[in-house]
Amino acid sequence: MIDFRLTETDEAHLARTFAEGEIIRRYAREVDENEAEMPPDVLPEADEFYANAPALPDVGPEDTQGPVMMLLQIMAGNWGDYSVRLRRRGSGGLGNAALSAAGNDEQKAKWGNMLLSMAITEPGCGSDPSRVSTTAVLDEDTNEWVINGEKIFVTTGIRADGVVIWATIDKSAGRAGIKSFLVEKGTPGFNVPHKEKKLGIRADDTAAYVFSDCRIPRENLLGLDETIPKASSGGFRGVMKTFNMTRPATAAMGLGCAWAAIDLTREALEEAGVVLDYTAGPGGLGRLSAAAEKFMRLEALFEASKLATLQCGWMAGKGLPNNMESSICKAHAGGAVRQITQGCIELLGSIGASRELLLEKWMRDSRITDIYEGTGEIQRLIIARGLLDYTREDLK
Ligand SMILES: Cc1cc2nc3c(=O)[nH]c(=O)nc-3n(C[C@H](O)[C@H](O)[C@H](O)COP(=O)(O)OP(=O)(O)OC[C@H]3O[C@@H](n4cnc5c(N)ncnc54)[C@H](O)[C@@H]3O)c2cc1C
Repeated sequence: MIDFRLTETDEAHLARTFAEGEIIRRYAREVDENEAEMPPDVLPEADEFYANAPALPDVGPEDTQGPVMMLLQIMAGNWGDYSVRLRRRGSGGLGNAALSAAGNDEQKAKWGNMLLSMAITEPGCGSDPSRVSTTAVLDEDTNEWVINGEKIFVTTGIRADGVVIWATIDKSAGRAGIKSFLVEKGTPGFNVPHKEKKLGIRADDTAAYVFSDCRIPRENLLGLDETIPKASSGGFRGVMKTFNMTRPATAAMGLGCAWAAIDLTREALEEAGVVLDYTAGPGGLGRLSAAAEKFMRLEALFEASKLATLQCGWMAGKGLPNNMESSICKAHAGGAVRQITQGCIELLGSIGASRELLLEKWMRDSRITDIYEGTGEIQRLIIARGLLDYTREDLK
């Protein structure tokens, strides 16, 4: 049975993250407006808060654990501020989720404590990752992979200690030749030429990477599977597994932002005297003001998206295949966070759009939910394949 109700211990652990969120929020406007700078990833106030915080209750078998708690913590962390949160040590990068999905136990132990970015996108390859052209050639004499290629729009790309990259070990094998590798920063031939300027998540150091004859140990191939299945796309499916954790994580990040927008708007509506009567009962919506009714619909959208995301995490925790569910929660969250943040701005009017509040920034920040880790259109293609048995050819 799936049950996402929280225990007291769960609540205490999440309350700690929400409290940190209140602190990191104080930095949000400043880092958004100074995009060209690299804001420090150490926030003394937040670190002090953790240092002085009382011990949390121990987690027992009745408490929420594993991927479900991880997703809830991501939501709570991004509730403070999506953009600043990305800059915090310990928040992990998309590469950490990729390592946890595709690495073996030894690799997870070795690199699990590093901040890892994830680099798939290239100048000629975005929505269709099977077109990755970065190459990894095995040098049998030295037992090293030699990486050559270019990656763009790498989230947390400058600050990360290492990156999980997708590269092909055999271009003639097409999709099946693509594998993921871990490359540590400081490896000769791994260069970071520039930082991108963006609409949202401007505190994040989104970077470009260039690999020129970059040599990494043979055992840096995640999962260590060097075989290329010729007649099927099995190898590619292996590498695509990384999305089964990164897509729900991306959904959760956006949902944290939408959650913040909802809380802020609820407070403003109540202050303005709008009655949010959740007990209106059947047909009761007619007794609500238009503002209350619109707000409740946004809340319902949020709850639906949150539940779909947690269900996906629950499946991952049980070891159940969640490929389609990852796309469902990501596609749903991508649209939901856009509607919620824009809807909240509409409800608040001019103050919603002003820079006095963080709402307009959260709308810009959460827009990325529907772009990286596969756009909404791509998620819907995957869902059509999983749910309706369409083939890749049908969908072309
Ligand atoms: C701020 C930011 C951070 C990012 N971080 C990362 C990162 O950390 N790592 C990484 O690897 N990448 C990252 N990306 C890149 C992101 O994943 C890509 O932008 C995304 O996959 C889309 O690829 P594209 O930009 O090449 O668009 P394209 O693939 O050119 O697509 C353009 C449009 O066409 C649509 N489209 C494409 N194919 C189809 C189709 N078959 N059917 C219907 N519609 C289609 C797309 O949905 C999109 O709307 C980031 C991007 C941004 C903006």
